[in-house]
Amino acid sequence: MTPETNRSTTSLTPRSLTPTSRTPGLTWLRGDLHNHCEKPELFKEHLAGGVERLDFAALTNHAQKPVFFTQHEMIERGRQRYPDFPLFFGLEWNAAGGRHANVVFPHSSEEAAHAYALSRAHDRHVEGSDPDITRALQQLSQIDPAPVLFFNHPEPGDWSTQVLDQYLDPRHSVRIAIGLEAVHGHQAQPRGVRFDHDQYPGCAVGGLADHVYEKGLPLALLANSDFHVHKQAKEYDYPLGVFNHTRVGVAAAGSPDSNDILDAIRAGRTCACQGHWLDLIDFSISASGSPGSALIGDTWSCGAASRLTISLQATEALQSVDLIGRLSVEDTTSVVRQFGPQPVGPTNLIFEVPPAASGHLRLRVISRSHERPAPGQTAAKAFFTSAILLNSLTV
Ligand SMILES: [Zn+2]
Ligand SMILES: [Zn+2]
Repeated sequence: MTPETNRSTTSLTPRSLTPTSRTPGLTWLRGDLHNHCEKPELFKEHLAGGVERLDFAALTNHAQKPVFFTQHEMIERGRQRYPDFPLFFGLEWNAAGGRHANVVFPHSSEEAAHAYALSRAHDRHVEGSDPDITRALQQLSQIDPAPVLFFNHPEPGDWSTQVLDQYLDPRHSVRIAIGLEAVHGHQAQPRGVRFDHDQYPGCAVGGLADHVYEKGLPLALLANSDFHVHKQAKEYDYPLGVFNHTRVGVAAAGSPDSNDILDAIRAGRTCACQGHWLDLIDFSISASGSPGSALIGDTWSCGAASRLTISLQATEALQSVDLIGRLSVEDTTSVVRQFGPQPVGPTNLIFEVPPAASGHLRLRVISRSHERPAPGQTAAKAFFTSAILLNSLTV
């Protein structure tokens, strides 16, 4: 089957997704936007369980694997089997400049054709292609609505601030690069936990995420499994939704559809989650006498003294709750407040934001227990919100 004959099955009807939890104004959905199935006969096993643990997923094979160019057949089968589960067509792109970036395409009759065209034109591992950042982004910018791109597993050496800056250059006509994996995939394997949360460039204080926030840009922090079902018999890894997953905050009103999910990711309205031990009830800034509030992904530009409200619900004790960011563009990003250990159950915290604050604030929560689903590793588990920007000026 060619991508062109795939039209009838690629659009989804809106549905009521099962909310993970609610924040005032938002419903949190769980998803996984980075995983691989290179044996079509295993695709049923690949999705099994994941469709119950998650609200949406993307399949994101590599273009140097021949199976990639028949990925639309797997996607079609998955959608037929689970018609109410948003299953995105994605690609783990051997990117220009860095190593791997995922591109996730909005549902359309042309989604596979767009992904195959990008690979043939601009993938480092596809013969004859031209891996150029500007030309690749230009090609993606022609697609309406635009796909989303995020930087994958940023181990030391994979992605640099200089290369990120090229992707984020405001002279690109459409903002395509919108997210970053805050943590590594493969969390059941030693390579997944090789770097702790203070060292890993995706989530470290003053690391790649903070570099983007310091530019005044929203950025979606993501956690994905990078599950490879075809390698499961050889070396166990966590299947979809068992451990790493991304929570995406969609507007609480109405029934979200696949476009709402991508819109929320574009807006940076996400949390990167390792395991299922913490729900975010509130993370927002407001000021008395000032209308409205800023949610994750928003820019708060009130200027007056304001209040950040943090509300959590935990099923495990918390080792630490840290607020990361800066309150002046003259500062470097740091931990601006350590709230310390917290017990199981609800945690409600307040941080006073001074007048004229400019910068960003994001939350890092670490569990006390290092236990994870078995079989797996023994290591700290983290929960990261994406940032709220403070009156930032885009540079
Ligand atoms: Zn990769
Ligand atoms: Zn991968």
